[in-house]
Amino acid sequence: MSEETLFTRIVEGEIPSHTVYDDETTYAFLDVNPLAPGHTLVIPKTPYERLEDMPRETAADVFGVLGEIAAAVEDAVDASATTIAVNNGEAAGQEVPHVHWHVIPQFDDDTARPIHALFDGADLSDEEMADLATRIRDRR
Ligand code: 5GP
Repeated sequence: MSEETLFTRIVEGEIPSHTVYDDETTYAFLDVNPLAPGHTLVIPKTPYERLEDMPRETAADVFGVLGEIAAAVEDAVDASATTIAVNNGEAAGQEVPHVHWHVIPQFDDDTARPIHALFDGADLSDEEMADLATRIRDRR
């Protein structure tokens, strides 16, 4: 866990942001380069780098308000849905090493795509699927 990140500086007010939520563990603010009006970032105040670095209690706190924030964002911009995503690690496009959920409003008439559009897809046999499931289970 790094001591200070761009986002801890935002939480502390050293870098200005448009705050939309603030409690003991969780902070949310508008993304400076919005992908849609209302694009919000939700973070734990403690700078865990990745999702799996967060203790369960902190994850539960953040996740507990994530849905409320998504509903508030949708309501505020009159959106009909939201895409909620974490770029979890550099290879997934994470630029700020402080875990954050992107909450991005979607509108009935826009051209946004589901996250499935990001990937080419993998053609796997049932055997390979079973093997993968076992390997993942064994690592927990
Ligand atoms: P990532 O690529 O790490 O998942 O997303 C980082 C996000 O942080 C980007 O969408 C970027 O626009 C946003 N961001 C970067 N710097 C700032 C900043 O100084 N203020 C705010 N509000 N957002 C930022």
